[in-house]
Amino acid sequence: MKVRSFASGSKGNCLAVRGGGELLLVDCGLSCRELTKRMAACGVSPSDVTGIVFTHDHSDHCAGLPTFHRKYPEVPLYANGNTADAIAAAVGVDDGWCVFETAEPFEIGGLGVNTFSIPHDAADPVGYVFEEAESTLFIGTDMGVMTVAAREALSRATCAVLESNHDPVLLQTSDRPLSLKQRIAGRCGHLSNDQAADALREANPQKLTAVLLAHLSSQCNADYLARASMERALRDLGRTNVNLTVLGQDVPSACYEF
Ligand SMILES: [Zn+2]
Ligand SMILES: [Zn+2]
Repeated sequence: MKVRSFASGSKGNCLAVRGGGELLLVDCGLSCRELTKRMAACGVSPSDVTGIVFTHDHSDHCAGLPTFHRKYPEVPLYANGNTADAIAAAVGVDDGWCVFETAEPFEIGGLGVNTFSIPHDAADPVGYVFEEAESTLFIGTDMGVMTVAAREALSRATCAVLESNHDPVLLQTSDRPLSLKQRIAGRCGHLSNDQAADALREANPQKLTAVLLAHLSSQCNADYLARASMERALRDLGRTNVNLTVLGQDVPSACYEF
């Protein structure tokens, strides 16, 4: 399996997962024009996409869908029922949906797909696990706290895309309104750097080869802080051989094969 980020952060999220004969997008938060540009820079085209799976209905995860769907109406859209309804209401795309039940495994082509509920202030947010042969991809972003189900999923990962949203000190000293600070740091907000590192320590995934830190706050985090927290966790686990990357908002990442 392979994974690549086209964008990660509060201004737009879109990952590509290639495996089992499929090229899936996880979320569609970039404008179709920007997504097309970034895909072209990576040698792929939106017309290669065989499906889009959605984590939740916030605009940084679905804002690009209306134009994408108008241009590529045959590409199936996967979400649980509440998320599909909420995205349909938010952006006006009400056809093309394949609705799944959270935590009930299904298949897209040769890829096994499972989902787990995550605490976040959206309609019915989920994280994803994709499986093909010995490869297991964990995707968990936009989570206020780790849950038992998320930890179990992370423990099986060979590659993990894990939120490392903010540094608590930078968040509290930022000029953001108190209500927003409380939302971000709260149970239905976003994982901090240390929460992400603790999540990895607790899950201790034995077969992990790569960690991709995702959804960093542009104002309340810095790449070196997120990286340092996760490096400490990997060192504590004796796993300094794991590839550690920070995903960016403005540029596609490298392609990771695992
Ligand atoms: Zn988000
Ligand atoms: Zn969100």
